[in-house]
Amino acid sequence: MKYHIIIFGCQMNYADAERVDSVMNSLGYVKTGKMEDANVVIIVACSVRQHAIEKIYGLNRKFEATRKIHPLKTILTGCVLESDKKKMLKFFDYIFPINELQKLPKFLGKRKPIDIKEYLSITPAHNSQFQAYVPISNGCNQFCSYCVVPYARGREVCRDPKEIIEECKCLIEKGYKEIILLGQTINSYAHKGVNFSELLRRIDNISGDFWIRFLSSHPNFFTPKLIEVWKNSKHITPYLHLAVQSGDNTILKKMNRKYTVGKYLSIIAKMKKAIPDITISTDIIVGYCGETKKQFENTARLMKKVKFDMVYIAKYSPRKGTIAEKMYKDTISWEEKKKRHETLNAILAKTALENNKKMINKPVRVFVETVGDGFFMAKTYNFKNVKIIVKANRDLVGKFIVVKIIKASSWGLTARLMN
Ligand code: SAM
Ligand code: SF4
Repeated sequence: MKYHIIIFGCQMNYADAERVDSVMNSLGYVKTGKMEDANVVIIVACSVRQHAIEKIYGLNRKFEATRKIHPLKTILTGCVLESDKKKMLKFFDYIFPINELQKLPKFLGKRKPIDIKEYLSITPAHNSQFQAYVPISNGCNQFCSYCVVPYARGREVCRDPKEIIEECKCLIEKGYKEIILLGQTINSYAHKGVNFSELLRRIDNISGDFWIRFLSSHPNFFTPKLIEVWKNSKHITPYLHLAVQSGDNTILKKMNRKYTVGKYLSIIAKMKKAIPDITISTDIIVGYCGETKKQFENTARLMKKVKFDMVYIAKYSPRKGTIAEKMYKDTISWEEKKKRHETLNAILAKTALENNKKMINKPVRVFVETVGDGFFMAKTYNFKNVKIIVKANRDLVGKFIVVKIIKASSWGLTARLMN
């Protein structure tokens, strides 16, 4: 029996898919890259933007074509909204929120549900040999007015720190080099008296040669202790993803983000002081309900000030059931949202290039991920993509090496090997 899996969305959806893989493998199913060959198709969905939902609707024709060849079971999981579920049931046989993954075997008629309390305790089938996603929490308590996550994933549930540390130890012993901790507001983590900075400190104490990254941090849970643990750590890389969403206080309030631009900037200043070579990325929404040109310009100003290395810019997409959808009008046209998106992207291209250029001629530690014809692709310690030009092929994939940066663009670096 074969299954095919399609993932939409963020790293959390990818981490979820690794747990779905593990359940399917335990039931004897083998993964196939072709939907036509599959007996079961599983979609791990993202409901954050309407665009992703439209893509799922678009799959129905493919399902129908496969059903003409042989019987097919279709399953939808991930971030699923109740309001979308009704329509989706027309072409999915089974829909369940990811935190009910334990019920999947029963649906497939194999055996009883998996006897594990939280789905995150299911051991994942990691897709990479070197990099592992380790979700430490699921769900969110923040209720930002535009966002479906608290409805689709439920309230925040944190994993037992012992279980997280055991998982990390096991991965490091197996040779994993990059542990990527995941959570919607990762730094709000708290379980049995262990908060996020303490959890980080304990993972950092595991011996071995590995990197720790984590996302997404929320400005409201950023503590001096976290900065201290980070500064004194051996393994936590200098990469911070701290979503700001807007550079205007009125819009932030309307988004229910519960911080001000001043507070955000003060965290950035403290981080830059503590870890001067930190790379900083963020999420920004353009064209939020009633966002005036002036309010948008405040966001552009904030971007110029912080000089981000990466910004994930989203055009506001009203989502059913959210506070924004109920209370405010989506007043900004799609054309205007596109224009604002382009303006911010141009600022990002400039600041990222400026930051990347500072790395030229410097020796930099990288982790080699893949090999091409005459080059390797790697990630720098501060989470930048780097192409390493090599004359002769060498066995470098899966290794940490030091390279010299020779060229920089807005979106990546070029390097050569150091001898
Ligand atoms: N928890 C993270 C935080 O707040 O820092 C963000 C997680 S959310 C799943 C990922 C991103 O999607 C958000 O930061 C936001 O920029 C974007 N997003 C969420 N809802 C959106 C909406 N209705 N329209 C457009 N973008 C949205
Ligand atoms: Fe959504 Fe806000 Fe929670 Fe992030 S913090 S997942 S944007 S509700």
